[in-house]
Amino acid sequence: METMTSILTSQQAMDLENKYGAHNYHPLPVVLDRGEGVFVWDLEGNKYFDFLSSYSAVNQGHCHPKIVSALTEQAQILTLTSRAFYNSVLGEFEKYATEYFGFDKILPMNTGAEAVETAIKLVRKWGYEKKGIAENQAKIIFCENNFHGRTVTIVSVSNDPDARNNFGPFTPGLVSIPYNDIEALEKELEDKNVCAFIVEPIQGEAGVFVPDAGYLPKALELCKAKNVLFVADEVQTGIARTGKLLACDHENVKPDVLILGKAISGGVFPVSAVFANNEIMEVIKPGEHGSTFGGNPLACKVAMAALDVVKDEDLANKAEQLGAHLRAQLEGLDSPLIKLVRGKGLLNAIVIDDAPDSKTAWNICVRLKENGLLAKPTHGNIIRFAPPLVITQSQIDECVTIIGNVLAEF
Ligand code: PMP
Repeated sequence: METMTSILTSQQAMDLENKYGAHNYHPLPVVLDRGEGVFVWDLEGNKYFDFLSSYSAVNQGHCHPKIVSALTEQAQILTLTSRAFYNSVLGEFEKYATEYFGFDKILPMNTGAEAVETAIKLVRKWGYEKKGIAENQAKIIFCENNFHGRTVTIVSVSNDPDARNNFGPFTPGLVSIPYNDIEALEKELEDKNVCAFIVEPIQGEAGVFVPDAGYLPKALELCKAKNVLFVADEVQTGIARTGKLLACDHENVKPDVLILGKAISGGVFPVSAVFANNEIMEVIKPGEHGSTFGGNPLACKVAMAALDVVKDEDLANKAEQLGAHLRAQLEGLDSPLIKLVRGKGLLNAIVIDDAPDSKTAWNICVRLKENGLLAKPTHGNIIRFAPPLVITQSQIDECVTIIGNVLAEF
């Protein structure tokens, strides 16, 4: 019997959420109570492989001891000062993180959406003050099927009806073009009011769409030629998930602005950040942007420990090798239900050969859960497979057996 931290049954816990919580998610019917490495346990003590990793936030594995001790140690010293004052950890973290990712400066926030909002404000301000765009004319290019978060401005450029319906009026000045389409970008860049192109190097939420080799470098080159900032949203793809520290590293692309979140803290605490060099970041002056919690000492200590773990445990190389192994094994299943296996590193998906509005992928995920593996469909017929990067090859083989057995039932 596993140790339990709650006296509720799973059904009681789900009933509480349904009764007292807003219904803004549609979770699989499993109530998680404890996690360690690649595993999570429900209230009845059943053990599961986590193949979602909290949308790639727990790349370092659940409750990594080094990250948790950074949290508990700092929690007893100082947790929050606000930025009204300096704190003794922020500067150390800023030096550490900028050297780690190779930028002059960092602007720390908390969630991914906040970091994307920060980047939007930063590139607009740069557009007016450095590029010379006329007042209120700045335009930012995004891609169709993007996912950058849930704020009003961000959903203004979403084409997902669930994200948008009845949430208008929307923020102007944001346009979207097809993903992985260089000609569309070239055409849109003709407008001299464009200040930035904001792109996911792999579209995660859309269903793990990997663009063609050469797309990102070409996009960067076109942006440079038009004095437009190239902004990479690596909230999901960053921090070793795709087999390199950043997904952009696969193509030696150095973005002008880098957005990170999720696994920068190993999922232990909300931490996000925007990175840029001085000539860009210095357009933000005191009082023009911020957050009470951004840059708090607890977050800074947690993030440094989480980034240490990525290097100490060589997680990028592990993701690269194990990802190739996972895709090969999934392809080897030879299931007629699998239309396609795609991904990079340990950010992968299978496309189920069925209509996007069918229930098959959901039902497969329910059966996977009943067999000890947690995954979640995205966009109906796509199932993402993204375990913590601390998984071993034999554990992957065990998981592929579970997946193969479940698919054979359908
Ligand atoms: N950008 C990307 C690429 C994401 O995948 C996500 C979350 N799935 C976000 C931004 C938003 O992050 P958060 O949920 O922490 O606001």
